Amino acid sequence: MRGLSLRSQREFGKGHSNRGDLSVAGNVGIYLGIDLGGTRVKAARFTPDGVREASESAPSEAQGDADAILEAIHSAGSSLAGNADLLGVGLGAAGLLDPEAGRILNSPNIPSLNGFDLKARLQEAFGNVPVHMMNDANAAALGEFHAGAGVDSSSMFLLTLGTGIGGGFVVNGKIWGGAAGVAAEAGHMCIQADGPLCHCGARGCLEACVSGWAFVRDAEEIARNTPASAIARLPSLTPLALARLAEGGDAYARSLWEKAGTMLGTGIANLMNLLNPDCVVLAGGLGKAGSLLLDPARRAWESQAFEEAHKSTAVKMGALGEWAGVRGAIQPFLNP
Ligand SMILES: [Zn+2]
Repeated sequence: MRGLSLRSQREFGKGHSNRGDLSVAGNVGIYLGIDLGGTRVKAARFTPDGVREASESAPSEAQGDADAILEAIHSAGSSLAGNADLLGVGLGAAGLLDPEAGRILNSPNIPSLNGFDLKARLQEAFGNVPVHMMNDANAAALGEFHAGAGVDSSSMFLLTLGTGIGGGFVVNGKIWGGAAGVAAEAGHMCIQADGPLCHCGARGCLEACVSGWAFVRDAEEIARNTPASAIARLPSLTPLALARLAEGGDAYARSLWEKAGTMLGTGIANLMNLLNPDCVVLAGGLGKAGSLLLDPARRAWESQAFEEAHKSTAVKMGALGEWAGVRGAIQPFLNP
């Protein structure tokens, strides 16, 4: 199949399921999906119908200059591609970006890429193959919708619960971007008007109430005010360490998770009442806390959302884990 034109190869791919449940024999070309974050660049190689064949993760060199980051992406991608026919590269990147111009407008975690012509430079680096760019939360949402927890849905809202909170809204297979392409920023919907200050400058955003950094802030306050507490004796104040303490019965740690879960549930109730999607999918590290987070969250959304809304919107955990973004990044090639 090596001699096929790009167009024919795409049509071959389209003849199969694009939901990642078929494998393709023979060399029919591959796609590369890249997920560029503030600490790691993840890359994966996919068959033309979106089945992940191989993947790797490397430091993203995010504090280096733009050329160092480009080299990190190219090196991860080209080692996976090997000698295969590369049909296209999909990139999900942290930050606000202009997918048409192929430029990152503002990425607080990867500052040297602000204003950089990333799409053109990637195209050049990978031998002038087609390149698609999108925001990383949108990429993760497309991945879960087409190949993960959202496969049976027609509408899905993804919440990524990590150091920050991201969101992506998929309707009938496509990202719903809003008037300026910045919709679904669920991390910055207001949960508590007089609440804690957020990194965005507003108060009481979901991310300022429940996120990796909000946990650290609240745990530091407990450690300062209560030096005899188990939290004050933790070697590092991570959400995971706080989850272990809470599971062991520590009252301070349990109260942190109870509060965070309630805030998260309020955010989910808002999504249910406003959008009533088929499902809300939770991804990211904080979800690993399981019932510590989800029990108070469920109590909140069941009491705050209309019954018709919360009974018809399923809340699920993501199915693709850290590989949702790379899968979603290649989706524009599978159903343009
Ligand atoms: Zn905010």
